Amino acid sequence: MKITGYEATILNVPEDDPLANTAARGAGPRPVVILRLRTDNGVEGIGVTFYGAALTGSLHLAVEGLAALTVGEDPLRIEKILAKLYAGIGDSCGPGGIYMLAVSAIDIALWDIKGKACGQPLWKLLGGRRDRVATYASGSLRRNLSDGEAQRAAEVLVQKGFREMKTQMALPGDPTPADEMRRVRVVREAIGPDIKLMCDINQRWRPEQAIDIGSRVEDVGLFWLEDVTTADDYQGLARVTAALNTPVAGGEYLYGIAPFRQMIEARSVDIVMIDIARVGGVTSWMKVAGMAEAFNLPVVSHVMPEILVHVVAACANGLTVEYMPWMLKLYEETPAIEDGDLVLPDKPGLGLDFDEKSVAAFKA
Ligand SMILES: [Mg+2]
Repeated sequence: MKITGYEATILNVPEDDPLANTAARGAGPRPVVILRLRTDNGVEGIGVTFYGAALTGSLHLAVEGLAALTVGEDPLRIEKILAKLYAGIGDSCGPGGIYMLAVSAIDIALWDIKGKACGQPLWKLLGGRRDRVATYASGSLRRNLSDGEAQRAAEVLVQKGFREMKTQMALPGDPTPADEMRRVRVVREAIGPDIKLMCDINQRWRPEQAIDIGSRVEDVGLFWLEDVTTADDYQGLARVTAALNTPVAGGEYLYGIAPFRQMIEARSVDIVMIDIARVGGVTSWMKVAGMAEAFNLPVVSHVMPEILVHVVAACANGLTVEYMPWMLKLYEETPAIEDGDLVLPDKPGLGLDFDEKSVAAFKA
């Protein structure tokens, strides 16, 4: 089996909130790069990457440049191809940034091909620990909503059957600790005591602020506090993690596998969040999950539940899948939610087909 060709396309995916129908953030459409990797036996693998923002054109070129290096290779020999990609940049413009984002699209497509070639869904190929996995609603309970809007959105999510959901603190403007505490309490009151509630800070607090506000909201019973301070301040994160009873989650901003070693060895977080585009694809995601397992830490996903459901379900220490609906409309069908859990698909590979009407409509 050989790779024979590729096609990378920039899409501008419209922003909306199909989960609770809250107003858009106003950030405009989200640019993504999709990849189709073709083989000589007709199997096609698909990959997606993003975070290029104003550099999306460069990310697109990077995906094409690296995909060209895969032509003629056996798609089942993924580590060999990854080594070729790294050699292809002369070990000089990686391992982070656009290089890793581009590698991720290729690695995801290679695993999709492997699953299709084996006639098995990816989650089984990677370990198959469970066939349903917990998931939480994300992207609705944003910091830019009013308390009333957040309360109503939280109620909608509960009515829709979500048993886990994420909100945000580090409110806009110049909030006092009392403002921050009020918001998270409003959401907790709206959903009741039994729904798991996560809270993302998106790196906006100082460590001492995180300890101060985090301590004041311990009684809210947050399932985790996420990215409480600058993502690579491993020692600052460790101080917060040691000070709070509430678990601290982090890791989505790290590129490649090596920074996770530093973060985990420093005991910076209680829950390891791995972003598939920044870490380098399925291959690296599973390596970090194994690293975390050795340290007795659970792992969670970041965005793109339609892809990440496979890796979280596959590994021994997968905890829950972030149900962030940004990319769902790219596909004909995505994994169903039943009784608050995501159900793993039976179809081979990722089990995803691009919705060609969406692809045509979103083309940049
Ligand atoms: Mg986050």
